[in-house]
Amino acid sequence: MSATINHFLNLATPGIQALQPYLPGKPVAELEREYGITDAVKLASNENPFGPSPLALAAAREVLEDLSRYPEGSGWLLAGRLAGLHALERDSVTLGNGSNDVLDIIARVFLTPAHEAVFSQYAFAVYPIAVQAAGAKARIAPAHDGSKGPAYGHDLDAMYALVGPDTRLVFIANPNNPTGTWLESNALEAFISSLPAHVMVVLDEAYFEYVDKPGYPDASAWLQRFPNLIVTRTFSKAYGLAGLRVGYALSHPDVADLLNRVRQPFNVNMVAQAAALAALDDSEYLQHVVQRNREGMQQLLAGFGGLGLQYIESAGNFVAVETGRGLQRYEALLQRGVIVRPIANYGMPDHLRVTVGRADENARLLAALEQVLT
Ligand SMILES: *Cc1c(COP(=O)(O)O)cnc(C)c1O
Repeated sequence: MSATINHFLNLATPGIQALQPYLPGKPVAELEREYGITDAVKLASNENPFGPSPLALAAAREVLEDLSRYPEGSGWLLAGRLAGLHALERDSVTLGNGSNDVLDIIARVFLTPAHEAVFSQYAFAVYPIAVQAAGAKARIAPAHDGSKGPAYGHDLDAMYALVGPDTRLVFIANPNNPTGTWLESNALEAFISSLPAHVMVVLDEAYFEYVDKPGYPDASAWLQRFPNLIVTRTFSKAYGLAGLRVGYALSHPDVADLLNRVRQPFNVNMVAQAAALAALDDSEYLQHVVQRNREGMQQLLAGFGGLGLQYIESAGNFVAVETGRGLQRYEALLQRGVIVRPIANYGMPDHLRVTVGRADENARLLAALEQVLT
């Protein structure tokens, strides 16, 4: 070996050289190891604290027998079931290893270094990563400041103003993570209709099942009308299957055909396919989870009110609360065995994102927060 200087960074593509990896929430086991505690509570990754449907667990266990076989690459049963649920054809569905996988596939299909993608300030962190990895340019629209729409929410006019001839993708999270803000049907429909034909809209509905806000749309019903629309959903949130990694995109079949060219053939494993399929059979359990989330959200909001804290109204299973000095509060809460998510990396240094937990977990958070603030 001659040169000893590590120049691998220079070998990477320009997009990857500038890439900052996604920061996941701190796992419970890591906190317990570091602090020598045993009863840590994690409200940091918008996971479902009630777990998946028992039907999903049973289905997952049952297929363990077949693990020496490859999963069905097309995800035939699951894709067919999902298509049926949305009154679409099977060839409208693209399965993903979580919806993050689908978002990345979309970026790889439509973006090059000559292209641009538009999204909002405070939008979900996977959009800038997927765009950067493709070497494309991110055009970030300022969020609402509170004068013309909900503060921190996507400003569709500001986003529209950034769409140009090189734009290929617009990412919209509805509701958005970490802000919890959402967009209503009329505004969103008008925005999508106004886009030029060379722009694809990605509507990320990861929290769809949780939302009970008036005017909140099911954008999957718009696919017939907007061939440039891609709707993404996931089993990671309300369905409680984050650990299995299953998500999907719904789109025009020609778009799905492109996405499926890039998709790895076995990106959704056998256990995940079986559990997701069974989870869809248990709508009663889903309703139970959504109801408990609603109660937990009320518990948290009442607690924040009691502590004199402001928060951003959220349509999801999480809420951004303004504690001031987010990173310090985060550390202080860790010391009390409670993991939340600091969002300084989103440009929100005074907020913490708190996932709605079980009643006992929410009470732990509120008690620890009270100590940390005084
Ligand atoms: C959690 C989340 C996802 C889904 O991630 P998976 O890869 O499906 O686990 C997608 N979009 C947003 C906005 C999210 O918060």
